[in-house]
Amino acid sequence: MILGQIMPDSMRRRTISHRPATFHKRDLHAVVSGVRGDIRFNAPLREYTSFRIGGPADVLVTPAEEADLCRLVRQSRVAKIPIFVLGGTNLLVRDKGIRGVVVSLAKLTAVKDDGDSVVYAEGGVGMPTLMRHAIGRSLSGLEWAAGIPGTVAGCVIMNAGTRLGQMQDVVKAVRVVDAAGRIVEWPASSIRFSYRRARLPRGVIAGVWLQLKPASRERIQTVVKDYLAYRKATQPLTLPNAGCVFKNPGRETAGRLIEAAGLKGLRVGDAHVSEKHANFIVNRGRARAADVIALIKKVGRTVETQTGVTLELELKIVGQP
Ligand SMILES: Cc1cc2nc3c(=O)[nH]c(=O)nc-3n(C[C@H](O)[C@H](O)[C@H](O)COP(=O)(O)OP(=O)(O)OC[C@H]3O[C@@H](n4cnc5c(N)ncnc54)[C@H](O)[C@@H]3O)c2cc1C
Repeated sequence: MILGQIMPDSMRRRTISHRPATFHKRDLHAVVSGVRGDIRFNAPLREYTSFRIGGPADVLVTPAEEADLCRLVRQSRVAKIPIFVLGGTNLLVRDKGIRGVVVSLAKLTAVKDDGDSVVYAEGGVGMPTLMRHAIGRSLSGLEWAAGIPGTVAGCVIMNAGTRLGQMQDVVKAVRVVDAAGRIVEWPASSIRFSYRRARLPRGVIAGVWLQLKPASRERIQTVVKDYLAYRKATQPLTLPNAGCVFKNPGRETAGRLIEAAGLKGLRVGDAHVSEKHANFIVNRGRARAADVIALIKKVGRTVETQTGVTLELELKIVGQP
């Protein structure tokens, strides 16, 4: 069984090439047998991504509880069908969709306090919800994440961050369903964080412990409010997108390089380089993944020719080529 979301990209690509392009219906049914929650065959993933783009998943499963997630992982291993976990806000799902099982943790959304300044959040908890909980408890440490729409688990995998901070500053430990479907807990010291990346033992993150700090609620609220206002003023939040497309190379920002190359407004089909923030691509209606990929290539090539800088993707492109 392959837990693609934790595998390095290079390795994942190698593995995918050995997989069959399709799976038997009966094997897919065997994988989801007895798993409680929502099960949707041939699910259009554009409905589950912030970009509103993406072909179908063979089957999309939203497990009711952690035990159902464990069962799903065990059964997919037996059937040798890959699992991909999605929050959906840093993804471009290709037009042919994703073969195998796609998992959403949208029902694993409990948040609870675990000691004075430690909060435990199930993997599907959205960052805005987590932030509200922290503010309610006068706990500081998540202000940097104001406006990040992903799940707490997706934010660990991406080591999501802003100029105010990043996930690695607050992760205390993670609770993971390993490839055999067992629960294991890993301290933050076993995760190798780097810029927009985290390496940890393979598995699905079912929950995260966050170490926060008591602080004045008013101060936390002011920082959050200011950062949300900054986002609103500088990012194209009214159109579907998946956040920043490229990582910032060194000290320079990708947005500035793209803007300086005169690429704001460049388009392929309904995929446009945002006029408001050049490192965002927006879907102005019916953009396909192929349009976004063609646009990304044009932007990357132009910036490289004009500046010599090779931009690296922050966005994850997934699914059947
Ligand atoms: C408007 C907007 C603004 C944004 N601003 C920022 C920003 O300021 N900073 C920033 O860093 N990002 C930003 N993002 C991008 C995005 O929200 C983050 O990268 C976030 O961490 C992605 O979380 P997700 O749950 O959507 O994961 P996804 O995008 O679905 O997945 C990301 C990766 O994590 C894996 N994954 C997801 N859940 C699990 C799990 N439970 N177990 C194991 N693997 C898992 C996926 O398989 C995939 O490999 C923004 C996005 C949008 C749309």
